[in-house]
Amino acid sequence: MKHLLKALPPVHELQKSERFVLFMDQFGIDQFNLTAILSSVLNEIRQLILNHEWWGPEPGNELFLEEIFSRMEQSIHHQYSYTLKNVINATGTILHTNLGRARLSEQAVQHVIEVASQYSNLEYKLNEGERGSRHTHVENLIKKLTGAEAAMVVNNNAAAVYIILRALANKKEVIVSRGQLVEIGGSFRISSIMEESGARLVEVGTTNKTHLYDYERALNEETRMILKVHTSNFKMMGFTESVDTAELVKLSSQHEQVIFYEDLGSGVLYDFRKHRIGDEPVVSEVLKMGANLVSFSGDKLLGGPQAGIIAGKKELIDQLKKHQLARVLRVDKMTLAALEGTLMHYAKGKEELTKIPIVRDLLVSKEELKQRTEAFVTKLAEASDSYRYSIIEGTSQVGGGTMPEVELPTYVIALTHKQYTAEKTAMLLRTQSTPAIVVRIQREEIQMDLRSVSSEEEELLIKALAELA
Ligand SMILES: *Cc1c(COP(=O)(O)O)cnc(C)c1O
Repeated sequence: MKHLLKALPPVHELQKSERFVLFMDQFGIDQFNLTAILSSVLNEIRQLILNHEWWGPEPGNELFLEEIFSRMEQSIHHQYSYTLKNVINATGTILHTNLGRARLSEQAVQHVIEVASQYSNLEYKLNEGERGSRHTHVENLIKKLTGAEAAMVVNNNAAAVYIILRALANKKEVIVSRGQLVEIGGSFRISSIMEESGARLVEVGTTNKTHLYDYERALNEETRMILKVHTSNFKMMGFTESVDTAELVKLSSQHEQVIFYEDLGSGVLYDFRKHRIGDEPVVSEVLKMGANLVSFSGDKLLGGPQAGIIAGKKELIDQLKKHQLARVLRVDKMTLAALEGTLMHYAKGKEELTKIPIVRDLLVSKEELKQRTEAFVTKLAEASDSYRYSIIEGTSQVGGGTMPEVELPTYVIALTHKQYTAEKTAMLLRTQSTPAIVVRIQREEIQMDLRSVSSEEEELLIKALAELA
């Protein structure tokens, strides 16, 4: 054992070797950091020798150096690869919160690259040569698309709810229906956010039924706001009743100090009801009915970056913009660029809309999915004979806590590997392929729904499946 330890080459010698220098160049890692990797590899080997667990080539042997550098290479790949990786989402759920919700359009991404890699007029008026406001960039587009008097953007919709309650209803009463005290995704609760904001929650009605008179009875001089929350991620069935926006607008307008604010959750700028998909009200409709303020997410059905969009009365938006929290919750230039890029598609209309991946994937026809799925299976059969598969009719979910009742008809590839279980195949697809691939498992079968897969990704998917075999 001692002779083995003695024969271990010293660090300074290995640093001078050709391979070490080559690694610095090849991986772009400086001497200091590469030496740290080398030392830890040597330590690891020393430890194995001490534990009588070293079965590799003996130090001094030519192959031993090979072993060191091969271990270094593994360690480099491990330490210097991003943990945030691309994933092909073959689940068919288009707004998968765990997989990053909406993906951006090419144009939006291009705009982010331009703005992030250069200086920009983020807070600068080019005409006047003086300081400007970052709010202006997307405000006009939002106004145009929603008909709002004014608008602003914060970090996400949860932040929008928070700043609105904090800035406009601190220490005052906010009336909410018990049927709308929802919890959304990772522990965001309307009741908790309200508590944090300092607004006093006044719950009215019951879980399944709230009437206009429930609101009427709760109104008093301390009331500052009536809040309607979109029950985004669940659907109540049976004996239910809620008060619609028009009635709540009418009620709140009878009390001068009362603001009517609607948290729309996803919020849509395009009317998917035209295609019989869900029953989301378009943002402009809600504002037209007289809501003083609305807020909605940037990365749900809108198809943009994570953001919270607030639109409504100028007087109220001005108060929000001036509040200290506006600075705390403000968005970065990259978000603004992504949002501007996304909103521009809506502003141009029709043909441009399907450039937004979310919109395209929601509207793709069953017929097109059928053709794509059949072509996919044919190509897969050519690439590999390790699978058994069939095409079955199924449904895709919208996901992301939106349109829970909507089931979009689709075609699903049900697939089994001839040797591996479905669990094992799914695990290998997640961990062994680049990009990683996420699929559904049902009845011991892998299920892939191409609705959430782009045509470019289809090729990668076939390649990954063939390589796995
Ligand atoms: C999703 C959602 C939120 C939170 O929005 P984020 O953009 O995820 O912060 C708030 N309210 C409702 C009703 C929602 O559906």
